[in-house]
Amino acid sequence: MSENTVVSTNFIQAIINEDLKAGNHKSRVHTRFPPEPNGYLHIGHAKSICLNFGLAKEYQGKCNLRFDDTNPSKEEVEYVDSIQEDVHWLGFDWEGRMFYASDYFPKLYECACELIRRGKAFVCDLTPQEMREYRGTLTEPGKESPYRSRSVEENLDLFMRMKDGEFADGSRVLRAKIDMASPNVTLRDPVIYRIMRAHHHRTGDEWCLYPMYDYAHPISDALEGITHSICTLEFEDHRPLYDWTLLALGFEDRPQQIEFARLNITNTVMSKRKLRALVEANLVDGWDDPRMPTLSGLRRRGYTPEAIRDFCERIGVAKSNSTVDVAMLEHCIREDLNERGDRAMAVLRPLKIVLTNYPEGQWEELELENHPDKPEMGTRKVKFGRELFIEQEDFAENPPKKFFRLAPGQEVRLKSAYIIKCEELIKDAAGQIVELRCTYDVDTKSGSGIAAGRKVKGVLHWVAAADAIDAEVRLYDYLLQEKEDEETEDGDFMSDLNPDSKVVLANCKLEAALATATAEKRYQFLRQGYFCLDAKVSKPGKPVFHRIVSLKDSWGKQQNK
Ligand code: ATP
Ligand code: MG
Repeated sequence: MSENTVVSTNFIQAIINEDLKAGNHKSRVHTRFPPEPNGYLHIGHAKSICLNFGLAKEYQGKCNLRFDDTNPSKEEVEYVDSIQEDVHWLGFDWEGRMFYASDYFPKLYECACELIRRGKAFVCDLTPQEMREYRGTLTEPGKESPYRSRSVEENLDLFMRMKDGEFADGSRVLRAKIDMASPNVTLRDPVIYRIMRAHHHRTGDEWCLYPMYDYAHPISDALEGITHSICTLEFEDHRPLYDWTLLALGFEDRPQQIEFARLNITNTVMSKRKLRALVEANLVDGWDDPRMPTLSGLRRRGYTPEAIRDFCERIGVAKSNSTVDVAMLEHCIREDLNERGDRAMAVLRPLKIVLTNYPEGQWEELELENHPDKPEMGTRKVKFGRELFIEQEDFAENPPKKFFRLAPGQEVRLKSAYIIKCEELIKDAAGQIVELRCTYDVDTKSGSGIAAGRKVKGVLHWVAAADAIDAEVRLYDYLLQEKEDEETEDGDFMSDLNPDSKVVLANCKLEAALATATAEKRYQFLRQGYFCLDAKVSKPGKPVFHRIVSLKDSWGKQQNK
């Protein structure tokens, strides 16, 4: 049965290929993506989604979406909805196989009773403090609980009464009876059920007894017929417990747990707990703040699912933890947007120019290509006239050497238009430059052929006053100043937050074509980067754009060295 194998580019495909050859798991591939609905998905989850759904696709198998909602205190419906939306947006579908671990509560309870009947679980009355003392250390074995030898009858009776709410929260637990001397601490009679009076988002107050993740997960996998249960490295030590649980219960077709390295990215945080802390402290504008590494944040920022999938493909799947440079993610979105982004002109910090030799009240229309290499993307019209805007930083009163932009007496070309020369500066009472008086050379119109005779080094983007729409533009930087998200002693990553991660430019001038922008349409603003409309904060007549990514590609450059 090897006709299904694919060329393996990672160790998980190699494992699956071997399984298929050996006929393991009835030669099926069935994976699952099991988020805990306690926050929005982030790009780390995207790695797991692409891997699990990707493998299912490659091997013509299946992938389930399962909400791992065994822990009642945190889950919320808002998260359940956002997770579904994000998985779909990334381009994957669970084909109706969406499950909740909480659906298995009755079954999980039954399995626990079965473990008791098989003499493999017991009710323990040790206090949490005593339990810690009995557990031992990495170098010393643990000590058996005095309750370990309770009879099956007594255990069954107590466990049922735990379920029926006879005992206080935390007063008793159900533990697997494995091995207190095991060098693997996970196997030292781990707790598998605890009493906890908490409202559950789906089962309400039906249960006051909740299963632990390590116990619920393998059984949920087995019940769904999962073959390869892929999780992150921190569960490696838990794998023997995963296997023990399924063996102890006599499951025949047992899924196999495979661990891979979780994704970390420089200059950001990548845990729901930390992301939630940012949201709750109002340090960001919600889970979908364009600076957030959440999928909803990246989507709002203007990232495409294609770019994120490409990124997940490139980072690969390995068995040792590492941190990926955020520049690589940016490289992926740049490559995508370079292809699909319409070119446009936008002046972010406007400086007014008056062309003194251009007739008043007159203007002309220029036709500009939307993409330099893609004529099929069409053209657009922009106005050119007496009053224009350029970037403040494109003018210097006292230019340094090799300043090829505009300066007194100096010439530049206005992109796709004419060569202009700066003749005079107008300053306000405070000495600030408020306007430049320039002349344009009517014989240098771009594309007219005549211009070839005269070359100037600088080419500037511009917007005509007759055409301009007013907009706010936001420029984003990284959330963290340091590359590594290193937790300080008191766990305070907040001290490393970048205070300048959001810069708001309120008075920008954009070319008229941008009036029809939608959130889905991405643009390259010439010389400024890739931008899109932020539909969430835009208002009629007051559009807000933000930068998806700048043009400077530090990662791509490194690769070409
Ligand atoms: P967090 O610490 O952010 O809450 P988690 O692992 O607790 O992460 P879950 O909702 O339990 O989040 O994760 C769902 C799936 O996504 C799991 O299989 C988990 O291994 C995977 N996953 C979570 N974070 C990452 C990451 N950074 N890289 C790769 N996979 C991840
Ligand atoms: Mg978790």
